[in-house]
Amino acid sequence: MSFKVAIIGRPNVGKSTLFNRLAGRKLALVDDTPGVTRDRRSHAAKLYDLHFEVIDTAGFEDAAPSTLQGRMRAQTEIAIQEADLIFFMVDAKAGLLPDDTTFAGIVRKSGKPVVLIANKAEARGAQGGMLEAWELGLGEPVPFSAEHGVGLPDLRDAVVEALGADRVFGEEDEDDGEIAASDVLIGEDIADPDAEEVPAYDENKPMRIAVVGRPNAGKSTMINALIGEERLLTGPEAGITRDSISVDWQWRGRPMKLFDTAGMRRKSRVQEKLERMSVQDGLHAVRFAEIVIIVLDATIPFEKQDLQIADLIIREGRAPVIAFNKWDLIDHPQAVLAELREKTERLLPQVRGIQAVPVSAETGRGLDKLMEAVVRTHRVWNSRVSTGKLNRWLETILAHHPPPAVAGRRLKIKYLTQAKTRPPGFVVSCSRPDAVPQSYVRYLTNSLREAFDMPGVPIRMALRTSD
Ligand code: GDP
Ligand code: GDP
Repeated sequence: MSFKVAIIGRPNVGKSTLFNRLAGRKLALVDDTPGVTRDRRSHAAKLYDLHFEVIDTAGFEDAAPSTLQGRMRAQTEIAIQEADLIFFMVDAKAGLLPDDTTFAGIVRKSGKPVVLIANKAEARGAQGGMLEAWELGLGEPVPFSAEHGVGLPDLRDAVVEALGADRVFGEEDEDDGEIAASDVLIGEDIADPDAEEVPAYDENKPMRIAVVGRPNAGKSTMINALIGEERLLTGPEAGITRDSISVDWQWRGRPMKLFDTAGMRRKSRVQEKLERMSVQDGLHAVRFAEIVIIVLDATIPFEKQDLQIADLIIREGRAPVIAFNKWDLIDHPQAVLAELREKTERLLPQVRGIQAVPVSAETGRGLDKLMEAVVRTHRVWNSRVSTGKLNRWLETILAHHPPPAVAGRRLKIKYLTQAKTRPPGFVVSCSRPDAVPQSYVRYLTNSLREAFDMPGVPIRMALRTSD
C-alpha cells in the first residue's frame, strides 16, 4: 500500500459514503446513527488501478475534546497528520457553510496535497455549490456523487495529478510489457475483476488529450486548427491547474479536454507562465492525458527525441496516436506513408497497431481522420474483456501453443483475468511465475491483442502464483 488518504469535511457531506465505496463495503453500512462504521479507523481502498489506505475520520468523534468544534478540529488534525493526501469533501447541493471554510483553512495550512470533491453533484441545483467550492482555494473541484458512484474516473485522475504518477505507482508502473517482480503485486487482491464496479464507457466525459512533439513539428498550428484560434484566446474554461493547462472543446459533439504547453503559447492570459515552460513541461502534460498525439514533422520523422517521447508515453500507460504533419510537403505520399508506417511498427513494437495518420495542420487536411483515430484508440484503451471470454480463448491457446517445460517440469497456466483498464492490464495465474519465459509472455500479449482487437495501446501482463 503506497499512500494514505484522509477524507475530510464537515458532517453530512458524504464522507462515510465515499469511505465505504472506496473500501468496497456495502453501502447499507452507511447510517445516520453514530457508531456505524466506527469500529475501524482505516481500510484498504481501491480506485481502479490505485491502491491505498483510506482513513475514516467519522470514527474520531468519541475520543476527542468535549466541545463540538474542538472534537471536529481534533479529528481533522489527526487524520491530516497521518495522511499523504486529503480528500476534502463539500456538499454541492447544500453549498458552502461556515464549517466548510473552517475545515478548508486547516487543510490548507497543513500543506498536504488536496483533492477537492464536490459531492452530491447529481442533485438538482448542485451547480451553484460547485462554483462556490472554487472559493475554498483548494483547486478545481471534482464533481462527484458518492452515493451513485459518479465521478470515480475523475477522482482517480485527480489523485494521480495531486500526488504525481511516481508517488502513486512507484516502480511497478515503469514497464513496457516486461515482467518485473513488483508487477506480480498488481493483481494480488483482485479475486474477480468482473465482479467489481466498472463504469461503462462514458461518451459524455471529456476525453483528455495532450499534444506533444519537438519544437516546430506544428503543435500550435494543429491545436489552433482543431479548436479554433478564438476559442484558444477566450475559452471560458481554460485555466491553469498547478502546472498544467487545459482547454475544453468539442469534436463532433463529443467533449474534449486538451492539455498542452507549447501549443497554447498564444493564449495571452497565461503568456507569462507559458514562456517559462520547456520540453519537460510538455512531457508533464502526458501525465494528465489519456491519449497523447505525437506530432512528427513528416519531412524529418523519428528523431531520437520523438522516440524518447513515445517511450515515455507508453511507459506511463497512456495511448499514443501519431500525426505525420506537414503532409502537404510530401511528394510521393503513398510510398512515404507505407514506409513511415512500417518504420513506426518496427520502432514501437510495444504498441503494435498504433494509429498513425498523415495530416496537414496548415490546411486542415487529415485532422478529422486523426480525431477518429484518437477516439478509436481511447475506446481500446478503456476496453475490458470478460473473464469468461479470456479463459475460453486461453484454453485454445494452451491447446495449440502451451508454455514450454522448464527443467523438465511443465508450467501450468490456470487462468487469465483482466485486472484493469486504461491501459488494459491482465493477470496470468500460473504455477511458477518466475519460470515463465519472457518470450512466452510476449507471445501471450501479442495473441491477446490480436484476438480481442486491441491495437496501438500498451498492454500490461502480470504473472502471479495460483494456489
Ligand atoms: P458524513 O457525515 O460526511 O460521513 O456523510 P454520510 O456519508 O453519512 O452522508 C450523509 C448523507 O448524505 C446520507 O444521507 C447520504 O445518503 C447522503 N449522500 C452521500 N453521498 C451522496 C450523494 O452523492 N448524493 C446525494 N444526493 N446524497 C448523498
Ligand atoms: P510547434 O513549435 O510544434 O508549436 O510548431 P508550430 O505550430 O509553431 O509550427 C512550426 C512551423 O511549421 C510554422 O512555420 C508553421 O507554419 C509550420 N507548419 C505547421 N504545420 C504545417 C503543415 O501542416 N504544413 C506546412 N507546410 N507547414 C506547417
